Amino acid sequence: MAYDTQPEASHFIDGAYVEDTEGELIEVVYPATGEVIARVHAATPAVIEKAIASGRRAQKDWALMTGRERGRILTRAAAIMRERNHDLSVLETWDTGKPYQETSVADATSGADALEYFGGLAATLTGEHIQLGEDWAYTRREPLGLCVGIGAWNYPTQIACWKGAPALACGNAMIFKPSETTPLSALKVAEILVEAGLPAGIFNVVQGMGAVGGALVTDARVDKVSLTGSVPTGRKVYASAADGLKHVTMELGGKSPLVIFDDADLEDAVGGAIMANFYSSGQVCSNGTRVFVQKGIRERFVARLAERLGNAVIGDPMDPETSFGPLVSARQMEIVQGYIAKGVEEGATLVTGGERLDKPGFWLTPAIFDGVTDDMTIAREEIFGPVLSVLEFENEDEVIARANDTEFGLSAGVFTQDFARAHRVIAQLEAGTCFINSYNDAPVEAPFGGVKMSGVGRENSKAAVEHYSQLKTVFVRMGHMEAPF
Ligand code: NAD
Repeated sequence: MAYDTQPEASHFIDGAYVEDTEGELIEVVYPATGEVIARVHAATPAVIEKAIASGRRAQKDWALMTGRERGRILTRAAAIMRERNHDLSVLETWDTGKPYQETSVADATSGADALEYFGGLAATLTGEHIQLGEDWAYTRREPLGLCVGIGAWNYPTQIACWKGAPALACGNAMIFKPSETTPLSALKVAEILVEAGLPAGIFNVVQGMGAVGGALVTDARVDKVSLTGSVPTGRKVYASAADGLKHVTMELGGKSPLVIFDDADLEDAVGGAIMANFYSSGQVCSNGTRVFVQKGIRERFVARLAERLGNAVIGDPMDPETSFGPLVSARQMEIVQGYIAKGVEEGATLVTGGERLDKPGFWLTPAIFDGVTDDMTIAREEIFGPVLSVLEFENEDEVIARANDTEFGLSAGVFTQDFARAHRVIAQLEAGTCFINSYNDAPVEAPFGGVKMSGVGRENSKAAVEHYSQLKTVFVRMGHMEAPF
């Protein structure tokens, strides 16, 4: 039995559901039909206060537990998530409209991976001993305190866990604010953590729009902010976090290049371009939306890509056969339609797709533009929808320069059979997360994040520990204290 789409209450604070109907009403819409499936309320100042106070209070004792004890709770939560993968995936599909075919393998499972990984890592977090002649120093790896996580709407469960798991493993408490577009799944993450033994107050979920996120970020009792969102939001959140000299992790937008050389395996390259543009209906931050294809292979590549898009199964997201779902909201669909119109207006060739389906919900067919040039709007701005741009290139130096000519730097990919070239090119691409003959893999064992305007800090892997803990240095004198007077 899948979860009820209407949660017990809007927020989860101090180990229990909390409601305050004074907060602004948020309607949760199923993107496949446009129907309202749940209603929650944005957090009021009283709710925010409760979340901050309980987080700060609970964090002290949580930090005093051993890493092994903390890790055991996270690992148990991972096991519960895996057991409930079906129900969690159905809820994620209601929340986001993403096909069950995707949510059943990429959302709660990815969240469980993070809980399991950081659960295992928790017992290994240590400082070091530094011998200084007779004297010595040591470092203690300490938590930051109270962290705030703010999520985007494309991977609600994954984002809650990618932020929550390392924060909790390091001994912090977290208040997580999901996107107002997809408020449901994070509540289940909180429920599962408490069921696994997490003390009340260590992982709180509050709902709301940007203003609630803003109130959390500016509160002096918050020590760290981790945002997944767009560059404009990142700028604002980074600026207000800087005012309080808070730690930050920023996972922001992208306009990543995918470079296909003419010696690439054509089927693999087409598969890579599909994974880099159409998974989650193109609503993936790391997508390789500027597909640079070498002149000798371009025509064959475009023809085969268009042919394979014809195999996409567009329909009921709950049907396991469906491989392509709707956009998340009417607003997002309109934004994407605007970019498609702009692409045509600026002279790109719409090879296929980009049509609105004549049914309720927010449906657009996957679109390919050929003949795209570097200066076109669709080649410069993040669309965050199923729109792939093909840009032709002739040689390696040229494509590296063109691929790097962007303010973003989240991801980059290269398809070629020449491995020396693959590594040479990847080394020169300005991006934080890269792929060779693959695209959009995000295993928890490897760091994930961007450079340039795409982000600050890294999620996943041991690297995340650096962003959720700090070192205290302790100097120990063994002899007498010397002083000048
Ligand atoms: P968004 O920037 O509109 O919102 C992100 C979150 O920030 C939401 O929860 C929102 O309520 C909150 N927010 C908005 N204004 C705020 C403010 N002033 N203070 C505090 N919080 C505020 O992004 P979105 O439309 O939800 O998501 C799409 C964007 O997210 C895309 O740009 C995409 O590339 C990016 N994204 C990045 C990653 C990554 O890991 N790099 C992953 C997923 C999505």
